[in-house]
Amino acid sequence: MSRTYVYRFGRSATDGAAAMKNLLGGKGANLAEMCRLGIPVPSGFTISTEACTVYTERGRDTALGLIDAEVRAGIAFIEQEMGKRFGNAADPLLLSVRSGARASMPGMMDTILNLGLNDEAVEGLARKTGNPRFAWDSYRRFVQMYGDVVMGLKPVSKEDHDPFEVIIDMVKDSKGVKLDTELDTADLQELVARFKALIRARIGRDFPTDPWEQLWGSVIAVFESWNNDRARVYRELNDIPSSWGTAVNVQAMVFGNLGDHSATGVAFTRDAGTGEDVFNGEFLVNAQGEDVVAGIRTPQQVTLLGSRRWAELAQVAEAERAERYPSLEELMPGLYAQLLQAETQLENHFTDMQDLEFTIQEGRLWMLQTRNGKRTGAAMVRIAMEMLQQGMIDEKTALLRVTPERLNDLLHPVFDAAAMKSADVLARGLPASPGAASGQVVFHADEAEHWARDGKAVILVRQETSPEDLRGMSVAKGILTARGGMTSHAAVVARGMGKCCVSGAGAVHVDPKGRTMTIGERHFAEGDWISLNGSTGEVYAGRIATREAELSGDFGALMALADQHRRLEVRANADTPDDAERARRFGATGIGLARTEHMFFEGARIVAMREMILADDEAGRRQALAKLLPMQRSDFLGLFRAMDGLPVTIRLLDPPLHEFVPHDEAGQQQMAREMKVSPGKIALRVEQLAEFNPMLGHRGCRLGISYPEITEMQARAIFEAGLEAQDKGCAVKAEIMVPLVGTVREFNAQAAVIRATAEKVFAERGRTLPYMLGTMIETPRAALVADSIGRQAEFFSFGTNDLTQMTMGFSRDDAAKFLPQYLKLGLYEHDPFRSIDQKGVGLLVQMAVEKGRSVRPGIEVGVCGEHGGDPASVAFFHRAGLDYVSCSPFRVPIARLAAAQAALQDAAA
Ligand code: ADP
Ligand code: MG
Ligand code: MG
Repeated sequence: MSRTYVYRFGRSATDGAAAMKNLLGGKGANLAEMCRLGIPVPSGFTISTEACTVYTERGRDTALGLIDAEVRAGIAFIEQEMGKRFGNAADPLLLSVRSGARASMPGMMDTILNLGLNDEAVEGLARKTGNPRFAWDSYRRFVQMYGDVVMGLKPVSKEDHDPFEVIIDMVKDSKGVKLDTELDTADLQELVARFKALIRARIGRDFPTDPWEQLWGSVIAVFESWNNDRARVYRELNDIPSSWGTAVNVQAMVFGNLGDHSATGVAFTRDAGTGEDVFNGEFLVNAQGEDVVAGIRTPQQVTLLGSRRWAELAQVAEAERAERYPSLEELMPGLYAQLLQAETQLENHFTDMQDLEFTIQEGRLWMLQTRNGKRTGAAMVRIAMEMLQQGMIDEKTALLRVTPERLNDLLHPVFDAAAMKSADVLARGLPASPGAASGQVVFHADEAEHWARDGKAVILVRQETSPEDLRGMSVAKGILTARGGMTSHAAVVARGMGKCCVSGAGAVHVDPKGRTMTIGERHFAEGDWISLNGSTGEVYAGRIATREAELSGDFGALMALADQHRRLEVRANADTPDDAERARRFGATGIGLARTEHMFFEGARIVAMREMILADDEAGRRQALAKLLPMQRSDFLGLFRAMDGLPVTIRLLDPPLHEFVPHDEAGQQQMAREMKVSPGKIALRVEQLAEFNPMLGHRGCRLGISYPEITEMQARAIFEAGLEAQDKGCAVKAEIMVPLVGTVREFNAQAAVIRATAEKVFAERGRTLPYMLGTMIETPRAALVADSIGRQAEFFSFGTNDLTQMTMGFSRDDAAKFLPQYLKLGLYEHDPFRSIDQKGVGLLVQMAVEKGRSVRPGIEVGVCGEHGGDPASVAFFHRAGLDYVSCSPFRVPIARLAAAQAALQDAAA
């Protein structure tokens, strides 16, 4: 049996429906659905995405051969519905040829309007309508679109202008007019002649006059547009597979450019920016197609309310508004009422906010498109929650409607929309950490601190960042790096801080010595203002106004709903009481990872830490550790108090010691002065600490095994702080975590030190503190022998960053060199440091959970790597049966929602 490639939609017959998006694309499926609902849609047919796939795989002749007869039958169907004939020069049926993939890709592919016109048909159209200007306006648009889309007359370079627009501007200039609408029939005739001459000159072929040739050319061009650069890039960014293909919609034209009783517009059933439940949109009288979005003329508002709001922003007085920019509601009240009825019907039918296209032809309304509208994160939340309240959708649908990642938009400061309009884009990097920031450029972390102390807003610009830059990063408004990926140090730390960061902006050349940066031709010195958009990766010159994100009641309601449906607990990675408090505000119910080493970088602590590193023997180390003890104790006290009875998971010292010593000569000289030792001694110690592969070196519990006194000090600080917190009436739930264990004997050795310290402290104080003693599972070996470890450890926490790099065999810091290419080649589906590699690393997680539970049924298992805040990973951890995920405070709401979605999908499966 032969396959069907063509699906009709119209008054007398409709083959497709909304559910057939895979085959008909979103546009075609919804055009069919609107016909089924009895909404006026110009008749047409859809050539399925399968035909596009045939074209891509087997070429033009095979594809056209397969669809020829069905397309001819489709044209006959439109002819019958419209009472006009395709190719009849006296009264031509004109068509639009529109692309439309499964997922909406607005403006990414190509559309051709007014197809079927030629030198004779334009005269026929002019006579038939009695409107020569309209006929020639339609013709010049067709030649222009066909010349561009099918015949390939594009701008030569990106600095170049559209060749057709250049001609239009010339003709307008010579006439001394500004608007397209001011061109008369003769001008439009001249445009057509010049366009055709341009085509002949540029490609040596004539513009085709035969309507069928025009049609086939357009169909092929739409198939081709699936693979144009814009579409490819969009697909890459939105994870749309190239195998889907696009459908082609062939449809009778309706005309918004037939005079003052005609118009064209776009509308939204709710506000796509804020989510407010108000119908809104824009239209233009006597215009066609994309004129509204093209910004050639100032569009008018569809509703009176919208028009008044617009006038206020545009500072247009009411009298002028009503006179020059009346709303459709005022101008054509009857048609407005019809449009309002259609938008209500469509929103109720699809139970989601719709983005609509409509055209009014001489007092008749036609709908040309409906789709679920794109929206901001804030609008996503508000629309979902209001539709739930309005009884349009159920709880499950409301929760599944919000893309967890988009909650980011709500949590970080944002640029003022009005200010963005005049922004001067300097460069683009990776949108490493969302948010908006303006500040003065500084090139060194310590200088960022000085400037910030003087009350200045700074943007820290670095080639790349390192742990030594942490403090500078934490005081900066934003961070810009020339190198590094989405999981670079700068990116990870910035996300953890909830700080705006653009990473890997290759066009930025940093000269930290000269304290300048160069972007293209432009130079920036220390103190110059720039702005960053961490949500788009854009870098701007100068200062752009921002405003604080406000968390709405809808956001709170959504989170409460998510909490009802999720099983996973969500904790936060937090190192300071500030972080801990923020984490609680965002709904974390514990700290899943407190990194003690972050506490060692601050102020005088780094001096004591370096003293310890420099010490020649245990006695010397103990002396230095004694100085660190009270500081650690107060850190832990702060965390316990902030969390007040919620679990606080503290990881013992983890990074290799070389991270705490300076590697440059000046730094070493300064350290020598501070420590009152010779620079030679420092240099020697630094050299001794150097490792070939520090990530696989002397770190984690290996440090505590070599220097049990470090573990002892940290354990003491935890117990003393816990007891002190209890004294202050605060409940304490401490979970002590040994990092980087590979064999149970390592764990046992550290556990012995910790337990002995506990006994000592409890005896000294005459009181005890309940605590849990567990381990990270972050070496593959630990996962493999998790049963043996689980007999001793009371909890597991998967350190999925290390587990990933050790399992994959490449480090997060070096992956940037080849991973992008790997992703392009499809060797990996995604960056395994961002979203967990479920098949490989995930298998180790599943295995360790099983083994752990087999020996200790109630063992607590969680995740504290970056993956704990990634929605796809959260879903995986839910299925793997973990108890909690832990992520940076700003990602807590994302994880809460993702956990609820995972539970709902699990229940549905
Ligand atoms: P996109 O996918 O980029 O939105 P469309 O195929 O929707 O492209 O078409 C571009 C413009 O042309 C839209 O404004 C649409 O409303 C208009 N248009 C498309 N088909 C017709 C038609 N048959 N009659 C009138 N206008 C049309
Ligand atoms: Mg459209
Ligand atoms: Mg680790």
